[in-house]
Amino acid sequence: MIIANSFQIRYHSHLVGCYWLLAGNVVMVAYTPSALKAELHERGWRMTPQRETILTTFQNLPEGRHLSAEDLCEMLKEGDDPIGLSTIYRNLKLMSRMGILRELELAEGQKRYEINQPSPYHHHHLICVRCSKTVEFKNDSVLKVGAKTAEKSGYQLLDCQLAIHAVCPSCQRSILPT
Ligand SMILES: [Zn+2]
Ligand SMILES: [Zn+2]
Repeated sequence: MIIANSFQIRYHSHLVGCYWLLAGNVVMVAYTPSALKAELHERGWRMTPQRETILTTFQNLPEGRHLSAEDLCEMLKEGDDPIGLSTIYRNLKLMSRMGILRELELAEGQKRYEINQPSPYHHHHLICVRCSKTVEFKNDSVLKVGAKTAEKSGYQLLDCQLAIHAVCPSCQRSILPT
């Protein structure tokens, strides 16, 4: 068992995957390929080679990278398992609904995706509304509010993210009168 900040991360024998515990309650899930396979199976979906490729691609992305469907398609084109754009769109939607991926709107009308990770990697975004430059930051209090709010209403928390829309320092400089 690893203690990460105030959260406990451990494996439950009766549950699939890695769960977050907050005050003894399971609040969120992080997926491994085998956990994803079991979860998909339970919901009547199959773990296809494409889904596994998408999951591992996101798991291996460097910190701070967010991919659009087109970015992912382009990345996979060069590898051994290219996947068509429509299959990518479908699977990104499915995996976001399951809480495996996060769907982010970092710039207007531009959906980007990243893996939904538990603490201590869970993060929020500070976004420049002019140039879309995005800074990731961590804040467990936001997550705790999310977990408590969901729990109070009997909802199962999949993700909790704060998006702060702002103007970055260089864009502030460029709009100042000269
Ligand atoms: Zn991010
Ligand atoms: Zn900016």
